[in-house]
Amino acid sequence: MVRHKHTASKTDTRGYTGSVSRDENRAAHGGVCEVETCACGYTRRTNVNGRHVEQGNWEPGADHRNAWKIRDYLREKGDMSLADIRDDLGLTEVDVDLAVQNGDVRFRELQDATGRFWLGLEGGR
Ligand SMILES: [Zn+2]
Repeated sequence: MVRHKHTASKTDTRGYTGSVSRDENRAAHGGVCEVETCACGYTRRTNVNGRHVEQGNWEPGADHRNAWKIRDYLREKGDMSLADIRDDLGLTEVDVDLAVQNGDVRFRELQDATGRFWLGLEGGR
């Protein structure tokens, strides 16, 4: 797991879409949502409306969630070709690449004689 203090390496301002915290502050709703992304891939969303703020917690970003999805699938199925993982889990090639690079799961990347790429879990199943 991640053992550092998350800091925003990038902040995107998006439209408000809904509450981002259990500690809801309705006054902060209806404005914008600032999405901070840490270098590790975790994200934190903060609703801002004028001087009102509702801050969420740091959460695993899409790369981490996809990496966990792939890990669980490989645990069940064993080593699989990248193409099958992509199709079976409904991910794009880029999603898989980012998950392997940025997610906090270690993968083994293998290539067979025909040049197809396979993915396995580090340390076997
Ligand atoms: Zn971080």
